[in-house]
Amino acid sequence: MSGKTAADWIRPEIQALSAYHVNEHAGLIKLDAMENPYSWSEDLVDQWLELLRRVELNRYPDPEAEVVRHALRDSMAVPDAASMVLGNGSDELIQMILLSLAGEGRCVLTPQPGFVMYRLSATVTGLEYVGVPLRNDDFQLDMPAMRAAIAQHNPAVIFIACPNNPTGNGFSRSDILELIDLAPGLIVLDEAYAPFTEQTFIADVVDFDNLLVMRTVSKMGLAGLRLGLLVGNAQWIDEINKTRLPYNINVLTQASSLFALQHSELFDQQAAQIRADRKKLVVELMAHQRLQVFPSEANFILLRTPVGRADEIFDRVKDLGVLIKNLHGSDPALADCLRVTVGSAAENKAFLNALATAL
Ligand SMILES: *Cc1c(COP(=O)(O)O)cnc(C)c1O
Repeated sequence: MSGKTAADWIRPEIQALSAYHVNEHAGLIKLDAMENPYSWSEDLVDQWLELLRRVELNRYPDPEAEVVRHALRDSMAVPDAASMVLGNGSDELIQMILLSLAGEGRCVLTPQPGFVMYRLSATVTGLEYVGVPLRNDDFQLDMPAMRAAIAQHNPAVIFIACPNNPTGNGFSRSDILELIDLAPGLIVLDEAYAPFTEQTFIADVVDFDNLLVMRTVSKMGLAGLRLGLLVGNAQWIDEINKTRLPYNINVLTQASSLFALQHSELFDQQAAQIRADRKKLVVELMAHQRLQVFPSEANFILLRTPVGRADEIFDRVKDLGVLIKNLHGSDPALADCLRVTVGSAAENKAFLNALATAL
């Protein structure tokens, strides 16, 4: 053959991947992606648009997004002594971390089921991926298995999402402290769901040389802006920062996120509402004897349907106008599992009605 085809040249591991898939959602109530369901008041939108009038689209953004970083420090209680680098979503930060660490024989270790981007980015950047199953009954860390896997694989980095996606639970502080101690290299705690839990390790970054904490504004209500932050020891952050593309945080994101952070009480209020609605949704779901409902510290809930029925229930709920996430088939531990984002009261009701019909 000619040798000029993509199949001849694209790396085999890339050819073996599927591109990140997002479900068609036109016309559906969207409870599949952990988005905040609330829009802004007309008045707030007007103030925001007024600000955008003055943004100079012909100029490059501030490469360090200095003002935004200060606002994030304040609003997320980042310790003064910690360094910070920003990403175009935490997805970009995950890629930057892995680009900085990639090399012959290097591996990423993470509990499984976990956030899919760790594996996808590991493959793209050429690191081995080691997934260590969580405990089967409660999705807590299987510490004997984690200790053994760390000793066997000597991972360059351990990622722990806490609370975890897609299971929704947090992990015990003492388990995580032990993992920080055991990690031979870097350990990254991904706190994407921080607005919905009391637990955080952000103050701990100053106490450990190898701990970085990652946050995002996505789940608090600004998923469209694409802004994540990674904080911790300057020795790590300064190196990882070298893999960052210049101007990765665009002018519209810088202006809009600064504006939003100046109205943080609104996002705090929305998070409190979502937490209260999560509690109600759990109660309503638990009334279905045939469902197993897992505890959640995040803005979504993991469910297990009766054996063999997840695909059919997912499809029926979708036909009735509500898009959730079907996890059946994605990991053996998630057999018969569905995941639903906590939406507005009306959206949750529509989901509960559709689910009751489907069951
Ligand atoms: C949603 C999610 C992210 C993605 O964050 P972005 O900032 O939107 O890229 C990161 N980590 C976990 C665990 C998530 O669930």
